[in-house]
Amino acid sequence: KPTVTFDNVVFGYDPDRTILQGLSFEVPAGDNIAIVGPSGAGKSTIARLLFRFYDPWSGRILIDGQDIAQLQQATVRGAIGIVPQDSVLFNDTIGYNIAYGKADTDDRTVQAAARDAAILPFIEKLPQGFDTQVGERGLKLSGGEKQRVAIARTLVKNPPILMLDEATSALDSRTEQDILATLDRISRDRTTLSIAHRLSTIADADEILVLDQGKLAERGKHNQLLRKD
Ligand code: ADP
Ligand code: ADP
Repeated sequence: KPTVTFDNVVFGYDPDRTILQGLSFEVPAGDNIAIVGPSGAGKSTIARLLFRFYDPWSGRILIDGQDIAQLQQATVRGAIGIVPQDSVLFNDTIGYNIAYGKADTDDRTVQAAARDAAILPFIEKLPQGFDTQVGERGLKLSGGEKQRVAIARTLVKNPPILMLDEATSALDSRTEQDILATLDRISRDRTTLSIAHRLSTIADADEILVLDQGKLAERGKHNQLLRKD
């Protein structure tokens, strides 16, 4: 399990507007660190930098001490599994959606990923199983089922690092609780960075960082931050 480090990261999209203002934090190997903060604070920007959509203006982002700017983009992305807020499914079979078009993904891997995402029993009850068409002209999945397919898709590559980017914020609260339990289980043996709007969805984080205008305003455990509310 790798350690993820942000070391004095400065970044903005436009030269005259700095978004992250010298941000430093560490996600220790196997821990689950959560970032909360108001809309516009820079949370998604952190995720985009870690996935190397952009490189920092200055400072470094390290995976196990290695500057990701020195690594191949594919190497970085291969190590990180993202579960986004609203996953896009292809108009194809449920199996293809989990394998994500990787022709070399064998059936056992797809099945194991579906099991870990707790969607396997649902798929096995479908008459066509993994060959069931989903999307516009096929089976319409609920928000929760869709998110479980997205989780399975992430697990197919068995990433040592997980990035949960408001992974449950599009769901109703009952479904959210179910998905949170699954996310908690799959993040247990991985280094995890969770991005969230609300403290209630990250109660199990090892540490919570409160981001405000691109700076760390506070950090602590869930109960410590709640006491200050
Ligand atoms: P959060 O995820 O905390 O809501 P973001 O990281 O998405 O915040 O955005 C931080 C700031 O950067 C916001 O002011 C936002 O408008 C700006 N921003 C985000 N993406 C872009 C972009 N592609 N180009 C210019 N500004 C952007
Ligand atoms: P997400 O996919 O996480 O919702 P977006 O990139 O769609 O992130 O937008 C995040 C925030 O950044 C939004 O508030 C949006 O208005 C702002 N934003 C996105 N692109 C730009 C841009 N080109 N210029 C300024 N702000 C932007």
